Amino acid sequence: MKYVIVTGGVLSGLGKGITASSIGILLKAAGLRLTSIKIDPYLNCDAGTMSPFEHGEVFVLDDGGEVDLDLGNYERFLDIALGRDNNITTGKVYANVIEKERRGDYLGKTVQVVPHITNEIQDWIVRVANVCSDGSGETPDACIIELGGTVGDIESAPFIEALRQFQFRVGQNNVCFVHVSLVPVMGPVGEQKTKPTQHTVKELRGLGIIPDILVCRSAKPLEADTRAKLAAFCHVDEEAVVSAHDVSNLYQIPSSFYEQSVLRKVSQQLGFEVPDELPFLDEWQRMADKIDTLSEEVHIAMVGKYTGLSDSYLSVIKALQHSALAVDRKLVIDWIESTDLDPNENSEKQDEAWELLKAADGILVPGGFGIRGIEGKIAAAHYARTNNVPYLGVCLGLQTATIEFCRNVLGLENANSTEFDENTPTPAVIFMPEISKTHMGGTMRLGTKPTPFLVDDCKIRRLYGGADHVDERHRHRYEVNPELIEQIEAAGLVYVGKDETGLRCEIMELNDHPYFVGTQYHPEFKSRPNRPSPPFLGLLKAAVGLPI
Ligand code: GLN
Repeated sequence: MKYVIVTGGVLSGLGKGITASSIGILLKAAGLRLTSIKIDPYLNCDAGTMSPFEHGEVFVLDDGGEVDLDLGNYERFLDIALGRDNNITTGKVYANVIEKERRGDYLGKTVQVVPHITNEIQDWIVRVANVCSDGSGETPDACIIELGGTVGDIESAPFIEALRQFQFRVGQNNVCFVHVSLVPVMGPVGEQKTKPTQHTVKELRGLGIIPDILVCRSAKPLEADTRAKLAAFCHVDEEAVVSAHDVSNLYQIPSSFYEQSVLRKVSQQLGFEVPDELPFLDEWQRMADKIDTLSEEVHIAMVGKYTGLSDSYLSVIKALQHSALAVDRKLVIDWIESTDLDPNENSEKQDEAWELLKAADGILVPGGFGIRGIEGKIAAAHYARTNNVPYLGVCLGLQTATIEFCRNVLGLENANSTEFDENTPTPAVIFMPEISKTHMGGTMRLGTKPTPFLVDDCKIRRLYGGADHVDERHRHRYEVNPELIEQIEAAGLVYVGKDETGLRCEIMELNDHPYFVGTQYHPEFKSRPNRPSPPFLGLLKAAVGLPI
């Protein structure tokens, strides 16, 4: 097993995840079977209890793992499917070690960070790296590991120490350390400054890890003398100093790295052959170049409540981008804070928000939790339904569209979800019986579940290629009230896919509308650049007037 370990310095948000994924693309192009691990040094056992405002989206895996959004990047870039154990957190590691201590596994010993925590981390890495993630049933050849945070953080110290030891455990020729740093530009002539990188490398080396490759984030390509200086001061050869400058789109990065000999460098370090022809990389590059040529726009209004941080909806944005690419359009997302659409909110931005909504080619209401902004989402669904505007509601977006339909078509005036009004006389969406009311972490209906189609032909089924069922990922506590289904369907909003019990509504489609679709699951998590998620593709097709 070969390991590429990506660490970061100076500041967060430099793109360690994209660096790691891009190196993954190069390894995949060279014919290696890949998997990846993201280490998050925080104490939470998983990302499920973290606010999307603070931490970006919670990504959901097939096994129901609620994980850091970087795992989504790995799945999309490398076209793999990971499990909850591919995201290691301090909370998970300590929970395991404490459980072992209570069981008596270390009987007689003093349990300590070194060696018990550091061994647990290493054992975990080896175990997970050997799990197939591409559906082939074969063991991966290489594992890309990203350590979250920056070197020097108190929290990451046990992980750095574990990774230092790890190189000896698996052999130094099986490990390639990549360190991502920042090269800021200062002064009137725009001098590229190397000192922050010198410092972070010094710190990393002080902890016993010598980077094999330095990836330097900078606005412009690294100049020759910057590169030379970094090589001299950071104890790497010049070829190992890689410029990660701004590019027209993220998909350009693998080729940029390739042109800077990153693949050669990694293959020398890890000892594998690189074939002369790399058709996968060529194909990837064609896609990257195509994105740059798109000029005709398609506008999608995103009616959300965490719109201040676009990372909160990362996978939704990606699924829209993949779909826009498939219909040859440049995607423009018009962000609308849902409270601004609520007539009772008296928001100053109300007119502006409605103008944006009305000008959009399609409307998307993504998932969410809590009452804030709900009436605005209901208003958006009403507008889309009554004006024949293409609409996709994901999870909460299906629930709010259902509430709107109950209120305005069935005449159930106060229809609501018990999430927002516990005592509503007309519960259109209700708490699912099997969900815990006392524990928030990991207790939703989570992960991949099969949804059989119940009608022979409808738009959404066609988009899924006529499949008899779909396997998509879930994350919710509430569902459409089974007692209202018959009435709703009789009025034209049909739940064309339900779970295997036939009671739980999963996919809704409105009759006699260009595209009014909702899914209780989150289709965005399985979208791929060259295989857009079908419900999203449907939205984009309808938005540009293509037949479905
Ligand atoms: N809050 C809703 C529920 O728990 C929707 C969840 C979501 O959109 N992910 O069912």
